[in-house]
Amino acid sequence: MKSIIHFLHDTPVWMLAIGFLLENLLIAGLTVLVGGGLVRIYSARRVTEVAPPLTSLEMRLASTTVLLNSLVTLGGLLLWREGLIQFRAEIGWAMIVDFFVLVIVMDAAMYVLHRLAHIPLFFKMVHRTHHLYDNPRPLTLFVMNPIEALSFGLLWLALLCVYDATWLGMALYLAFNVAFGLIGHIGVEPFPDRWKDIPILKYISTSSFHAGHHQDGAHNFGFYTLIWDRMFGTLEPQDTPLQKF
Ligand SMILES: [Zn+2]
Ligand SMILES: [Zn+2]
Repeated sequence: MKSIIHFLHDTPVWMLAIGFLLENLLIAGLTVLVGGGLVRIYSARRVTEVAPPLTSLEMRLASTTVLLNSLVTLGGLLLWREGLIQFRAEIGWAMIVDFFVLVIVMDAAMYVLHRLAHIPLFFKMVHRTHHLYDNPRPLTLFVMNPIEALSFGLLWLALLCVYDATWLGMALYLAFNVAFGLIGHIGVEPFPDRWKDIPILKYISTSSFHAGHHQDGAHNFGFYTLIWDRMFGTLEPQDTPLQKF
């Protein structure tokens, strides 16, 4: 861990910028690859129609998001070098606690942002782009208006500026963020039906949950959990039934 920290501290910014771009390209590539595998494995459990053929606009929007995510990573590095973002080196329980803190705080903040994004003016200007693809494919996770991609990144950096997370807690959260973003956009349901009846698990977002939002923009605004939708009455009355398509 110490050698990674020294590397991030001493390597020229331009070299790290290239590294972050490659890292984000790799994340996007793996996401699409794993997502494609899940779509094939669970093809009998579709919750949306099969996505139409890929367009060049989707490719351009996804590429822009990957580029912006790389810039946000670089921004995080510069803020860390300036001492505005600080990380703790602890492992063990501290890492687990951080993971849950980051998940809950980001989930709440993104719920609020998502509700705001559905106000007609903001929807037209920004969020409509993502909703053009209501029969999602794994790549749809990255298909959004650049302003939206940047606002997620800035929210994340703002949280890191006020909360000194552990390196590993942050890494765990980032992996979880990609995994749940992907699950919401595969158009098939990998989680078993009984998931909804199990305490605690029934508060965790599923593929059907986010597919439900894509089909009906008035419900299911949460990202990782159903907590805020349950609390504020925006949960879809019944989850999208499986094998609807
Ligand atoms: Zn979506
Ligand atoms: Zn939305």
